[in-house]
Amino acid sequence: MQKSKIRRLLESKAFQAQLTYRGRKLDNELSQRCVRCPNTAEDGYACCQACRTEMAQGKRQAREQGLCVDCWTEPVVPGKRFCVQHDAQRKERQASQYIQHLIRRICVKCGKRKAQRALVRCKECAAKLGVYKRKKHQRIRTIRGTALAPTDPYD
Ligand SMILES: [Zn+2]
Ligand SMILES: [Zn+2]
Ligand SMILES: [Zn+2]
Repeated sequence: MQKSKIRRLLESKAFQAQLTYRGRKLDNELSQRCVRCPNTAEDGYACCQACRTEMAQGKRQAREQGLCVDCWTEPVVPGKRFCVQHDAQRKERQASQYIQHLIRRICVKCGKRKAQRALVRCKECAAKLGVYKRKKHQRIRTIRGTALAPTDPYD
């Protein structure tokens, strides 16, 4: 008998990794511990080098097999990196975050500094929409398991 989608997701490696990740994230945030194992995380990263490599490999494999890079289980929506469910979730989350930032007058790009008057981005982000910054942002997001789809409203 075929397993249900939910069942497969629950048993998937990616889901298990995410569970562990979320549970440990808070505890470990200040202690510089990797959120997935007892190793020490490097500055600015949530995970240690080993876990980052593992996550990157899992994502790469999923991508190569045409599977969602979020759950590593479901096939992707054509032209996207995520399955139907995760693509929808992502859009929803991005949209609500974007709106929250707009309302609170926080830069929609970095989510940290104040947006300039009548603009959606802070001075720094507006001036430096350069490749380097974008890559760095993406790298951090990817590591935190929230890699943005190419059609990201922040751009
Ligand atoms: Zn680790
Ligand atoms: Zn998925
Ligand atoms: Zn900004």
